Amino acid sequence: MSWIRNCCHWLFGSDHKKKQLDSIVLPEASSENMDQDAPEKLLKGLDSHKTQKGDFPEEDEWNYGIKDEESEWKELFHPGKHQSPINIDSGSIINASNILKENFYPLEFHYSPHIKKGKFNSKTLHIKGDFGGLSLKSPNNKEPRKFNVAQFHFHSPAEHLINGNRHDLELHIVHKEKEHSNLLVIGILFKNDGKRNAFIDTVMESTEHKTEIDLYQIIEKDMGLYYYEGSLTTPPLFETVLWFVSSRVNSLSADQLDFFARRWLKNPEFVGGKGNYREAQPLNDRSIVYFN
Ligand SMILES: [Zn+2]
Repeated sequence: MSWIRNCCHWLFGSDHKKKQLDSIVLPEASSENMDQDAPEKLLKGLDSHKTQKGDFPEEDEWNYGIKDEESEWKELFHPGKHQSPINIDSGSIINASNILKENFYPLEFHYSPHIKKGKFNSKTLHIKGDFGGLSLKSPNNKEPRKFNVAQFHFHSPAEHLINGNRHDLELHIVHKEKEHSNLLVIGILFKNDGKRNAFIDTVMESTEHKTEIDLYQIIEKDMGLYYYEGSLTTPPLFETVLWFVSSRVNSLSADQLDFFARRWLKNPEFVGGKGNYREAQPLNDRSIVYFN
């Protein structure tokens, strides 16, 4: 289960959280992309369980490529048509409020602070621990599904693009569903605007010594979320991930960004200084639904 070391985190209730949030990417969502059975079709992933058979490679058994790492990954891991990350194009987003009668928000967070030490491996900074989890609800009123945080980790620069723009840093909070192969990953974007981010400060401190980390420093219960069905962004690229990417872009100071960038993006010995991200993958027949 070495893959689980490589992946994602949340919060609400912290009074300082809003101060960290410097900008909001508002979707220009419309109903033009709907079809007749839209809610059932677009949101079926919230109810469906996926299984995936195969082995997870050790982190040192694959590499990011300078140009097209996919050529090697495709041969080794046979990715399908629903890969991640993607470019989130505001013109193709479907607003949930346009397809659902009632105000519906799919995630209910049950996080708890935890004292942990963060560790760099050869690909990322990851923190694994008992940070609680979340409930995933669907509009069909089925029993909520329970996911627990497995770990969280970082990519710099970011993996998901917003209208073609790549931000400086992306946090992935990886949740695993009990007794199923499904993962639920929350992606949180950051950009260097000169303002210190309190959550990132605790993460940085945790690499020195055990530190209490509270995901509610960076997660807000009603934050805007882009939802789509996708994959792991690292081998074995299994298409078992329910993705929720926050529409809010969080602040980051220059030295906080450098804490990550000097290891990956600015490090010529790390994939020639490309950074630890995978290129955006085609959306194909998928839809992106916006919840807030
Ligand atoms: Zn990741």
